[in-house]
Amino acid sequence: FLPHLVAAMEEVEETYIMIKPDGFQRGLVGEIISRFEKKGFKLKGLKLFQCPKELAQEHYKDLQSKPFFPKLINYITSGPVVCMAWEGIGVVASARKLIGVTNPLNAEPGTIRGDLAVQTGRNVVHGSDSPENGKREIALWFKEGELCEWTPLLGPWLTE
Ligand code: GDP
Ligand code: MG
Repeated sequence: FLPHLVAAMEEVEETYIMIKPDGFQRGLVGEIISRFEKKGFKLKGLKLFQCPKELAQEHYKDLQSKPFFPKLINYITSGPVVCMAWEGIGVVASARKLIGVTNPLNAEPGTIRGDLAVQTGRNVVHGSDSPENGKREIALWFKEGELCEWTPLLGPWLTE
């Protein structure tokens, strides 16, 4: 094991997690939030939001050449989403594990997509794919003053 990778895994990071319109409409908000809460990550921002087309396009700009892009933008703007900023050691990769792979049929049981979804085009939740994108996406979806700095009293019981 390369020591620098271990060190990188132990860095405090931020990730942007979003419950997509299908997750919201299906009443999965509490279930999904509770998986991140129980894991022990720190919630720094949370809001219900109707996403404008321009923001969806900016968020998914890396996918704009894909044939499914117009469908994806319609999907994400089809109803309210729940926007979240989470902080923690290795939170970016860990959240992706909790979420499961993109196609819910291939996602492991125990993951959010593996337990709660069946199709890529309705995979209920988004999670940033790198610490850089975590920062970029949180800045994109949250305005100044919408994020909370706070000290969890349970801190010493979650991390040494
Ligand atoms: P993620 O990081 O696991 O969410 O996956 P990607 O970044 O590759 O894609 C972003 C989102 O686009 C996915 O979560 C899906 O909602 C959607 N998406 C990706 N691939 C497809 C596809 O082949 N068809 C459709 N309809 N949607 C897709
Ligand atoms: Mg992605």
